[in-house]
Amino acid sequence: MSTSVVNTSSVTVIGLGPMGQAMAGAYLDAGYRVTVWNRTASRADDLVARGAVRAATVEEALTANRTVVLSLTDYAAMYAILEPAVSALQGRVLVNLSSDTPQKAREGAAWAAKHGARHLTGGVLTPPSGIGSAESDTYYSGPRDLFDEYEDVLKVITGTDYRGEDPGLAALYYQLQMDLFWTALTAWLHTLAVANANGISASEIKPYAAETLGGMSQFLDFYTPRIEAGQHSGDVERISMAVASLDHVVHTTRDSGVDPALPAAVLETFRRGAAEGYAEDSLTRLIEMLQQGPASK
Ligand code: NDP
Repeated sequence: MSTSVVNTSSVTVIGLGPMGQAMAGAYLDAGYRVTVWNRTASRADDLVARGAVRAATVEEALTANRTVVLSLTDYAAMYAILEPAVSALQGRVLVNLSSDTPQKAREGAAWAAKHGARHLTGGVLTPPSGIGSAESDTYYSGPRDLFDEYEDVLKVITGTDYRGEDPGLAALYYQLQMDLFWTALTAWLHTLAVANANGISASEIKPYAAETLGGMSQFLDFYTPRIEAGQHSGDVERISMAVASLDHVVHTTRDSGVDPALPAAVLETFRRGAAEGYAEDSLTRLIEMLQQGPASK
């Protein structure tokens, strides 16, 4: 049972892409009164059939509830929707679960405050299928008192992970995970393309790919304390070895008739590290090189 002092029984959800629809559905399942608004109004049809109220205007959606969940493509979409209705923002709490940069999140929070609304930034770490489950997580940042007051409301969507007062923090943690997620997922797609070109199916390579990706956490365990200690010695592996190894991957890709651009870009980074004098160091030395900015500088 909720112990929150907020009126937890009603919310407005603005933005009904796959995520917003799942969120509004989770609130309906939890017994909330749900008001919805979406630019393409027909996306609310199923939710209305389940009991949601379709607001005719953005103003109506904002004034219906103190809690307003935003699930939009980015912060530009928020301004496009809310700018014409700013007078209705006074006293609202915007739970902004739209992805964008940390800086955009900070500007969004300041913009909300200027119009009398409070803002919690969120970074949702699950696809729509994980919405409504406590097993899934969402990063939050913004005023601690607001997060504490709203935690029960937020927990209807997913589990919560409060990252700090800076409104940019949830977006930053989210983008850090997206950095890993998109590159790792694309690496897997590249692997599949090479496998398929050689007559190996996705399901045949799956257990091996899963083992390699799953084993990554052991590398994180091993390297993290060394990185934090500034230890990049080549006692386990060297950048020179990585250059040779990845060169084999690029050639295998080319020989398979597959676009090698992805591993070639990584190979270029390794080669730059070697050229800058780190050939005998561990691959982790590349962090320092990357922090110096683009190669063209
Ligand atoms: P979509 O991009 O499919 O939909 C987002 C919503 O934004 C739609 O309701 C769309 O309206 C609205 N929108 C976009 N631009 C404008 C605009 N200029 N004016 C008015 N409305 C606009 O996103 P998702 O539902 O998939 O995701 C929502 C957020 O959650 C995104 O930031 C995404 O990065 C993040 N996310 C998504 C995940 C996923 O698996 N889908 C997983 C984790 C996070 P309309 O329907 O009219 O087009």
